[in-house]
Amino acid sequence: MSSAVTRFAPSPTGYLHVGNLRTALFNWLIARQSGGIFVLRLDDTDPERSKPEFADAIKGDMEWLGLTWDRLETQSSRLDRYAAAADQLRAADRFYEAFETPVELDLKRKKQLNMGKPPVYDRAALNLTDAEKDTLRAERGGHWRFLLNHARIGWADGILGDLSIDAASVSDPVLIRGDGQVLYTLASVVDDTEMGITHVVRGSDHVTNTATQVQIIEALGGTLPAFAHHSLLTGPQGEALSKRLGTLALRDLRAAGIEPLALLSHMARLGSSDPFELRATHQELIDGFDLSRFGAAPTKFDVADLGPLTARHLATLPLEAVTSDIAALGIPADQAAAFWNVVKENIETRADMAAWWTLFTEGATPMVADEDRDFVAQAFALLPDQPWDTTTWSTWTTAVKGATGRKGKGLFMPLRLAMTGRQRGPEMAEVLPLLQKRPTL
Ligand code: GLU
Repeated sequence: MSSAVTRFAPSPTGYLHVGNLRTALFNWLIARQSGGIFVLRLDDTDPERSKPEFADAIKGDMEWLGLTWDRLETQSSRLDRYAAAADQLRAADRFYEAFETPVELDLKRKKQLNMGKPPVYDRAALNLTDAEKDTLRAERGGHWRFLLNHARIGWADGILGDLSIDAASVSDPVLIRGDGQVLYTLASVVDDTEMGITHVVRGSDHVTNTATQVQIIEALGGTLPAFAHHSLLTGPQGEALSKRLGTLALRDLRAAGIEPLALLSHMARLGSSDPFELRATHQELIDGFDLSRFGAAPTKFDVADLGPLTARHLATLPLEAVTSDIAALGIPADQAAAFWNVVKENIETRADMAAWWTLFTEGATPMVADEDRDFVAQAFALLPDQPWDTTTWSTWTTAVKGATGRKGKGLFMPLRLAMTGRQRGPEMAEVLPLLQKRPTL
């Protein structure tokens, strides 16, 4: 692939969630795979709803994920470009002023639907005389619509294949609102064209936008990018996720300890025909990505998958990847390797490391069943004095076996429960040398 220029264009009107993460990731991967450019574009033309704190949060989330951008653009700083494009459309007779209020438009739509017709704007404004327009403009102000060419609009979609939409089935899009606010459809086209965007990958909820944008790009004399529309995520049961996306914000996943590479590995394969692979690095993600493997069907997403994936990811990490976490717990450098080796397969998130360290330094609250009480007391009495090494467990339990006659699970499980307070965990032979205090009942 020649060098791709892609963009991720969130509106800073909320936090990023798993739904828009897919869009961000696909575009990032395409740019990186081709040695191209990835633009982070903040679609902030809505001054009411756009907030600097959301813009900061978006950047923070992208940095956390390691989805680095080469250029940052904000639409609010490009309003003059959009005005120039609007003039160009006006000069080309592809832009017209319309005056219907939202209530009037709604009424028209209802009438059309009642008559079994598609609710497409009837272009009544095209029949207004200049005098009528002047009156209406003074009365209520006007908005601007792009005059679609009533033909089929087609493109080869990178995911959906050959796609075409009859322009007559779509309302002429409003590009400038009554209050002068430039709307996304125009701003996005101007940016994509002027920034040399070669690939636009976004959710399939944008397919109709794409059709109208194709005509706007052509009217402005721009070059069409390659379009691809990925499916939308649903919940595990296929239910719409849109309402729950607020609870699937990236910042919440981050706070819950989800690891970026676990999340990205999942997202880079979810909905594709390739099997899932846990990637250790961003480069592996880039190398293994193929947009053409994704399908049109809605993609099921279960947030519960991310915990086990994070655990699997953590289990593969070398000590270097967790040195700062280990240092933050105050673990001495000479014990770091042994500690990590023992806990890495027994944590779901990095935060779980703390509980293990407390267990090793303070001891656990023992779990001892009544019928095991005497056995455990007897065993503890046989435990040699510290220091303990990795052979201690075996020598000790052999002695306990000889003294009590217990063996197998009946021998090991009560000791594990008494010393760690947990049913499962690392090999006890590895745990013992890390315990700083002699266990007591
Ligand atoms: N700001 C738009 C959105 O978040 C961008 C869509 C696009 O990628 O063109 O839906």
